[in-house]
Amino acid sequence: MNGTAHAAVGGAVGYITASTFTSSPSATVFLVGLGMVAALVPDLDIDGKLRERITLSHKALRSTAQLIGLFMIIYSFYDGTGREQLLGMGIGLAMLVISSKLKQSHMLSLTGIGVLAGGFSLQESWLILFGGYILIASFVSHRGYTHSIIGVIFFGIIASSLEASLGVQGVYYTCLAAYISHLVTDSKMLPFNKRGIKLFLPVSSKEV
Ligand SMILES: [Zn+2]
Repeated sequence: MNGTAHAAVGGAVGYITASTFTSSPSATVFLVGLGMVAALVPDLDIDGKLRERITLSHKALRSTAQLIGLFMIIYSFYDGTGREQLLGMGIGLAMLVISSKLKQSHMLSLTGIGVLAGGFSLQESWLILFGGYILIASFVSHRGYTHSIIGVIFFGIIASSLEASLGVQGVYYTCLAAYISHLVTDSKMLPFNKRGIKLFLPVSSKEV
């Protein structure tokens, strides 16, 4: 199934959850949006549209990283002393070099690291977990672990942590049901899907 269809199903899941919890109108809109996003998450393991949407374009990201690197060199040179100055200039230089050598395929890994770093600095456990999820998704093959029971459990933990952080009822169920809806609509349960998903990885790689 394509992304638009997955998002539509996810939005419907969010709406149903909101109705079940008799959520307020604003919470309903939020849960519908959240369901749409959560239903797209399993496909973070592909090179494609979604990757481009959540990562910046290659050129924009590279220029931003180079600019930050350059700024760090200048800032450390004028404002730092001793070891701090050398360390800051070294990191800035490393950012310049790494970002100019960066390939498209590493964009998602970099996004994962960025989300992880953001999670640590904000002390938000769901963001740390989600950064870890993105980082792992950038290394596994398409329709593999993100489309398995293990993926559901991992995302369920992220969702429960997100609900605890936001304090909005229905967040956990919306995320979990939207994620599962993606797997169902990618599976051979739908007659028009020729390929299925490896739901029982790593125990079995049989497609269902
Ligand atoms: Zn998929």
